[in-house]
Amino acid sequence: MDTYSIIIMSVVCFCVIFVLGLLYVSKNMKKSLEGLDPSEVKEMIKVGKYIIGFEDKVSNIENVKSIITKDKFIFLGALNEKIGEIDIKSITNIILEDKTTIHQRLTATRILALGIFSLAAPKVKKYKEYCIAIEWEDNDFEIQNLVFEFTGLQSKENSQLSYNSLKKYLPKQNKKCPFCAETIKRAAIVCKYCGKDLKD
Ligand SMILES: [Zn+2]
Repeated sequence: MDTYSIIIMSVVCFCVIFVLGLLYVSKNMKKSLEGLDPSEVKEMIKVGKYIIGFEDKVSNIENVKSIITKDKFIFLGALNEKIGEIDIKSITNIILEDKTTIHQRLTATRILALGIFSLAAPKVKKYKEYCIAIEWEDNDFEIQNLVFEFTGLQSKENSQLSYNSLKKYLPKQNKKCPFCAETIKRAAIVCKYCGKDLKD
């Protein structure tokens, strides 16, 4: 066999392996989305990097997307592996903030215990980093936070886009305080952020 046919054969082998690999990956992706009726999916929103929030999941999962159905936010990783889900009804607030200050807004004490405050660690970064926190109430009526991070050149724009998309699904039990524009419970008679009286 001459060098030429060896090269041809290697190229053919490589192509076959590559195609098989692609088939395998796409098959698995399909599989992990099974059980999710495509007609139920209202929107798919990129939410950056999953930092923390689901008890049983390791942090720092890149390229997470949120699948919005009529009653759930379902969070999937890059290969559509499920990270977790929450009921839309349980969501109490969605916050977008600079990464260096967001920890002041997070209410769950468990997050402290889990050491999210690598978040607060002062690092010199080229670009500003942003976080989206989804605040929700678990079955024990305890407030939990799901935190996603956006980094890189487009972090501001990307986080704003995701935030705007997610915010549309905030249940109607919330309203905006007419004084400070923070999102508060519809039934509130005093704003928890600025303390203004809301009954009239
Ligand atoms: Zn207010």
